[in-house]
Amino acid sequence: VEYKDDATAFNGLKKGTIAGKGVINNEMSNRLMQMLEKQGIPTHFVKELDSRQTLVKKVSIVPLEVLFRNISAGSFSKHYGVEEGIVFEHPTIEFSYKNDALGDPLLNTYHALALKLATPEEIKTIEDYSFRINEALKAFWLTCGVTLVDFKLEFGRLSDGTIVLADEISPDPCRFWDATTGAHLDKDLFRRDLGGEEEAYREVMKRLPGE
Ligand code: UDP
Repeated sequence: VEYKDDATAFNGLKKGTIAGKGVINNEMSNRLMQMLEKQGIPTHFVKELDSRQTLVKKVSIVPLEVLFRNISAGSFSKHYGVEEGIVFEHPTIEFSYKNDALGDPLLNTYHALALKLATPEEIKTIEDYSFRINEALKAFWLTCGVTLVDFKLEFGRLSDGTIVLADEISPDPCRFWDATTGAHLDKDLFRRDLGGEEEAYREVMKRLPGE
């Protein structure tokens, strides 16, 4: 995997650059994946090669994006007409069909099965892992003064069919809010033209405790 500074939003309609993002996302994702591995979640991570490149296991990506939410924000708030910032008693999980041409439409597990995107066992594994990943990441980020609002995960199949966490865990696919001030520390600054995204990526990286 090579991590660049290119940033996109709205299915590629908005394009830009966040200077230094690739280096940050590479290191952050690798450290978080190694932490998850220690907690029994298999991931694609093998070895960091340099500041922007990481060796990962070869997978075929399951074309289901997992959207996991602890707090209302973004499209959840828009769809259901609620303000951002409502802390859920029970987190939510939703799936979208990873298909750019169709605009990644939301679907439920019956749709995923009908489209043969994954087997029932794979969906169960993906859901179980997602809940465990949420618990691990939420607790970890809290110790760094960061609230994990929501995030997107992608999983892949190894050649023997094993499901592993793939893609990345970074301020691109995660909403991070400063636990004290509520300030955005993620790609929403870019998506919403709020500015300060470079500083925010650096700030959230700084919050990660040293190895
Ligand atoms: N997300 C992502 N890629 C996508 C869609 C969503 O990484 O194609 C992430 C996004 O960063 C956020 C979470 O998934 O952390 C939930 O996003 P949401 O559905 O609220 O969509 P948005 O408001 O960003 O359009």
